[in-house]
Amino acid sequence: MNNGINLQNCTIQSVIKENSDTGLKWDVLRLDRIHPLISGNKYFKLKFYLENAKKIGKKGLLTFGGAWSNHILATSAAAAEHGLKSIGIIRGEMPDEPSATLKDAAAFGMDLRFVGRSAYRESSRTEHFGLPVHETGYLTVPEGGYGAAGVTGAAEIMNFKGVNQYNLVFCACGTGTTLAGLISRANTGQQCIGIPVLKNALSLKNEIQAILPDHAIGKRWELMEDYHFGGYARKNEMLISFMNDFYRSYGIPTDFVYTGKLMYAINDLIINNFFPEGSKILAIHSGGLQGNRSLKKGLLSF
Ligand SMILES: *Cc1c(COP(=O)(O)O)cnc(C)c1O
Repeated sequence: MNNGINLQNCTIQSVIKENSDTGLKWDVLRLDRIHPLISGNKYFKLKFYLENAKKIGKKGLLTFGGAWSNHILATSAAAAEHGLKSIGIIRGEMPDEPSATLKDAAAFGMDLRFVGRSAYRESSRTEHFGLPVHETGYLTVPEGGYGAAGVTGAAEIMNFKGVNQYNLVFCACGTGTTLAGLISRANTGQQCIGIPVLKNALSLKNEIQAILPDHAIGKRWELMEDYHFGGYARKNEMLISFMNDFYRSYGIPTDFVYTGKLMYAINDLIINNFFPEGSKILAIHSGGLQGNRSLKKGLLSF
């Protein structure tokens, strides 16, 4: 996947320089700069699904997501770059006017199939159950890339130069696959902390445990449950104005579904003196900026 993929762009950027009294610092790993459409963690989570599909001679990937899904768009683009086909099972009825995300996915050749929400719920989490069409020759990628291959790919995020120097590594959590990858590769001095963007922390915890490789069981990690802003893709004035302030101060754009909530959480924890002295915090900017296209124009300043 070399076309347009740029790992060199993914630098670590300072948000709060090391404080001479408390020793606290906060940096951001800019995975949002990998690629405009295969952004952030999706590049890593898809890597081994793509490799596996080619290795076993599949003609494409089949996966699931909503109308503004970063995962759907990333899958369509990544499959196209690998010369593979893709099928997207999309939650909800076919709209009169497709979202910008779905238009882009279709432009990458993704075959979009719309299914009602309840049928979608049945089908999206499992390998073969309840698919609206029986497709042969496609490798099924669970929603969000959840699963062992996704974890193995996400673990590579920890290989970026300098990442091993932080004792706290934060990411936003949807399925928790990215967090599981970070945990699996964390060193003994590191703790990984996930910020769930859905109101599902209890089941999420189990789902993460289920995909953690054996060697990672017992590593230090946790979920901080109070920053979902009401649930998936929910937002309020406070979040939006934080995202605008964050951009104005540090030049880092965030998305309102994941990384806005992540940065808000870290900032809030700092304000409330949550972190012990000497904490070295790294936030993984997992991308997803394309999803901001679903917002009213003018809401964000970037
Ligand atoms: C998909 C996505 C996530 C969630 O990743 P999981 O591995 O499912 O937890 C986080 N951030 C962004 C920007 C995403 O697009």
